[in-house]
Order: sequence, then structure tokens, then C-alpha cells
Amino acid sequence: MPLIVQKFGGTSVATPEKIQAAARKAIRAQQEGNQVVVVVSAMGHETDHLIDLAKQVNGEPPAREMDMLLSTGEQVSVALMAMAIHGFGYRAISLTGAQMGIKTDSSYTKARIKTISTDRIRRLLDQGNIVIAAGFQGVDEDFNITTLGRGGSDTTAVALAAVLNADACEIYTDVDGVYTTDPRLLPEARQMGLISYDEMLELASLGASVMHNRSIEFAKKFDVPIRVRSSFSDAPGSMIVSIPESPTVPVCGAALTRDEARVTVQGVPDTPGMSYEIFKRLADRKITVDMIVQNIGMEDRADISFTIPSDELKETFRAVQEAVDVTGATGLHHDDAVAKVSVVGLGMADQTGVAERMFAALAAAGINIQMITTSEIKISCLVQRSQATTALRSVHQAFSLHTKPTDANQWLIGQMSHTKQSPSEVVERLRSTNLEQLTLLDISLLGDQARVTLSGVPDTPGLAEKVFQEVASAGIFVDMIIQSCDGYQGETSISFTIPKEQMDACMEVLGKTGYRFRKIGGSNDISKLSVSGIGLRSHTSVAIAMFKALADEGINVLMINTSELRVNVVTEGKDGERGLKALQKTFADALV
Ligand code: ADP
Ligand code: ASP
Ligand code: MG
Repeated sequence: MPLIVQKFGGTSVATPEKIQAAARKAIRAQQEGNQVVVVVSAMGHETDHLIDLAKQVNGEPPAREMDMLLSTGEQVSVALMAMAIHGFGYRAISLTGAQMGIKTDSSYTKARIKTISTDRIRRLLDQGNIVIAAGFQGVDEDFNITTLGRGGSDTTAVALAAVLNADACEIYTDVDGVYTTDPRLLPEARQMGLISYDEMLELASLGASVMHNRSIEFAKKFDVPIRVRSSFSDAPGSMIVSIPESPTVPVCGAALTRDEARVTVQGVPDTPGMSYEIFKRLADRKITVDMIVQNIGMEDRADISFTIPSDELKETFRAVQEAVDVTGATGLHHDDAVAKVSVVGLGMADQTGVAERMFAALAAAGINIQMITTSEIKISCLVQRSQATTALRSVHQAFSLHTKPTDANQWLIGQMSHTKQSPSEVVERLRSTNLEQLTLLDISLLGDQARVTLSGVPDTPGLAEKVFQEVASAGIFVDMIIQSCDGYQGETSISFTIPKEQMDACMEVLGKTGYRFRKIGGSNDISKLSVSGIGLRSHTSVAIAMFKALADEGINVLMINTSELRVNVVTEGKDGERGLKALQKTFADALV
């Protein structure tokens, strides 16, 4: 019999009436001949209320007790959902994370799922029950209750769909599907028919809260097609699958992380191992770092800037202060009034001028870009928080995201079950291991690259656009771009990589621009080392393990960029082969 997993988010079970409406959807699916597992979130804003309560008794509540408290929200809603189904005359049984055998690690408030035992769920389904599973929770080896992080019920649902080899996974929520950006921020956002795993994963981790990012890691790893749809209508919704909506558009969506903070460690000695000293302390605390930018050093010192979620600022300071003491860095600087605007699209990987279009849109809106990082399928810009929505709107418009691509792929209703195949050998193997363990697909070295660094760039709106417009119009293929944020000194620096053979042409263009940079420098001989896989930014340990492997070899990291698909580091050309070997050794066990 086909098996379907349905997940109802907080708004979809906010009142007794809504719980009954969700119960009817589950019953209908069962009546249509499916076995049904329903994953439920806490009612309405219950989790927020519980957090608020905790803060009233202790400003910094212990994480273990936090999870004990937060898990109660879902326990209430699963019981009520089961009762509602009984009320309609059907069989249902509710289960907590522990009762389902969801075993996690012990990182309270952001635990990762290790194993799920499916026996009990299968037995209950075979007895004709609708199984109601509590989202967002599990237990560690010592039976301490853990939670998976805010929004984690999506991850419970997709993880269950993966281990049960479900025929369908439906995420019922308060919007009709996945939009090109949050429709509550921009009413002109367009609902997409489908979106690829890679794009959704990137968007989710850059602020598109419609799906928990880790749920998409599960979906991609175990090949689970997801349908996101409204709890309040029968509209078909959006599919998250292996293919993108359009094979040609450079950008499919935009996202905003409003509560970002920027931290700069100043005057870090420019020697191997310094980044490792800083970021290992953040990884130990499971703080997700983004937008890492290192200024190419002056007088053997560098400034290292990065962004973090602003609610982790206190914890970050603790970690970084230790690193400042150890490394002998000269200072620490931060700004917690910033927001990160990002665009994502598989199509940008092989198109030129995409970054420049984003910079132009922001410049036209009079928005100063404080930091830039790019990677294969995303570009992020840090802006003042007060300008966040304007920035989002301007880039959404610049890429015409409100217009459906003319070559949009269609995902036919019902196609999901027709294409259901038995899981591949790789999927079977991954399913029998630690479910959320790091999965790497490739480690590679790209030589014949050059780096250009512009120092002392006036920190005014539009400069990045002008520089990259001129470079692009000379036909130069720009890859990694990073702009640092020493904006508080009225200057920034911009570094980017290009193919080695275009270095002379690039220097010529830059020389002619007429801008007065303090210095135009670079290196004709760099190597780019890449580790690709699934969910690499949220597996905070990946960049750290790279830093460590390279530092142990005495290799200096000149540039880094991270995305969920890939972590790239730039080293001096001569270090490439040695770096590659070191990475291959470090990650031998994580490669599938
Ligand atoms: P649930 O409680 O059902 O899990 P969430 O609030 O977590 O619901 O997610 C749904 C919300 O995600 C929507 O109400 C919407 O405001 C927000 N959202 C952010 N980005 C997007 C996007 N790209 N597409 C659709 N919704 C989005
Ligand atoms: N109730 C949890 C939260 O609000 C989990 C979820 O809804 O997905 O974050
Ligand atoms: Mg959610």
C-alpha cells in the first residue's frame, strides 16, 4: 500500500477547528488507499510562548531544560490530532520522538538525527492506524529529550519519509507553496511550480523559512520529492525535486536574513592556522557562520570578518575573545544592525554578469553594500537592516522574479508516484548509517586561476557595480567575489578570482577605470580547492576541518567561500596539490 507523510505546521493546527480540518485531510488520504503518517508542529505560536516563559525565569536557560520544555508543544498537538481523528471515527495513535525511536546527538536545541527505528510505526500503520508523529524532537543516547532547531518539524517529516521510503511527502503550511521570495515581505513574489533541492536548500539556509534547511538535506540525500501546499485549500502547491523550474534563468529566488550580525577580528597575524583558531571555537558551539571574508593582509596582519545570526552574538563573542587572546589579534569589532540579501539559482553557475546585475540593482536603490560573498549558486550582500526590504525588492525586480520563466518545467500532478523507484544502492547505504552525518560528493583542485585584489576602495553605493560591469564588458569571467567590510574606516577591499589567462586583460581594464584605489594587486598563481556535498554550511565542521587540514600542512588560506553545496578555499598556486592530498585524507570517510 502506498505510504504518505503529511506535515502540518503551527498555523495549520493553531485552533481546535484547524486541528479537525487537518485530521480530515489525513483521513481523506487514508481513504484514498494510503498508509498515513502525520507530523505535527506545536499549535500556533506555542513554541515562542514557551521560549518567552523560559526567559522570564532565567535569561540564559540551560539548553537541556529548554528542550525538555519546547518538546511539550508538539506533545500537546499530537495528542489533540489523534483525538480529533478518533472523534471522526477513525483509528490514530500519537507518538513522541522517543516513542518513534528518533535518536539524535546531544546538541540540545539543534540536535541532528542519527537513527530512526521504523518498526513500531510500520506495525501501527499495518494495524490500520494513522500515526501522528511529534515534530522537531528526539532523544539522545541517554534518553534526554532533544529538539532539532526552530522549524525542525519539516526535518522530522522528510526524515520519516526517507526512512519509510514514502511515496509522497506533503508539507501543509499557511502559504500555497514555495515563492520566489517570502510573499509576506513582497506581495509581488510569485509561486513557483517547482524548485530544485539545491536551490531550496540554499534559499532555506539564507532565510526562506518556508522549509527547514535540514529537511532539504534529507530530501536531496534520500531522493524524497516534497510537495509544499496550503492547509487551507486544495491547490496543488509547489514541488521540491531534483530539477530546477527553468533550465536557463540565472536566479530563481531571493531571500533575506534580517537578523544577521557582522563580527570583525582585526589585526590577525597572517600566518597559517589563524582562521582555524577562530572558527573552530564557533563550530564547537555549533554556531553557523556565513560570509567569511578575509582582507588580504597589510604588514602581515589581516582582518577577518564573518556574519552569524544576531541571537548568537553573545556566544560568538565568548568564542572569539578566546581566539583573540590565543592569536594575538589586535581587536574585535561588530555591527548587529545588518541584514543579508541573497539571490540563488543553479543557472548562475555558467552565466556571466549575474553578480553585477545584483550590485546594479542595489546601487540604483541607493543601498550601500557592506560585504559581498559569492559562490556557485548564490550571491549574498550585507546591507543596513533598515534597508533590508528595499534591497530585497530591488533584486527581486532586477531578476524579474515575478515573471514566470517562458521555459518553465512542468511537474505533473501524480508524477511523483509514477516515478517512484526503488532506492538506489547509495541511498540504501546512507539510510543504514547515521542519517544526518556529513555526506561529501567530491574534493577537487582547480588550477590556472588568478586573484585580483583592490584595496582602499571608496565605500560608496555603486562601486562594486561599476567595477564588475567594466570587468564583465571586457569578457572576463569572474568567479569568487568577496568584499570586506572595513566600512567603518570609509574604505573596503574587493577580491575576486578569474582565469589566469585573463589576468593581463583584467589589469588593463582596472587601470583604465579611473577609480583611485589605494592598490591594485593580486596573484597570477593561485589554486582553488573545493569540497562539495550536501548541507555543508550547516555542517559547521566542514570549513573547520579544511582550515585544520591546510594549517597542519603550513598552507595559508587566502580566500574562502561557503555554500550548502560547496566550500571553496583559495591558496597560493604552489600549495594546490599538497592541499588536495591533505583534504582527501581528512575527508576520506565522508565521501560517498
Ligand atoms: P509552518 O508553521 O507551517 O511551518 P512557517 O511559518 O515555518 O510555517 O513557514 C511558512 C512561512 O514561510 C510563510 O508564511 C512565509 O511567510 C514564509 N516564507 C519565507 N520565504 C518563503 C518563500 N520563499 N516561499 C513561501 N513562503 C516563505
Ligand atoms: N514548533 C517548532 C517551532 O516553532 C518546530 C516547528 O514548528 O517546525 O520552531
Ligand atoms: Mg516551518
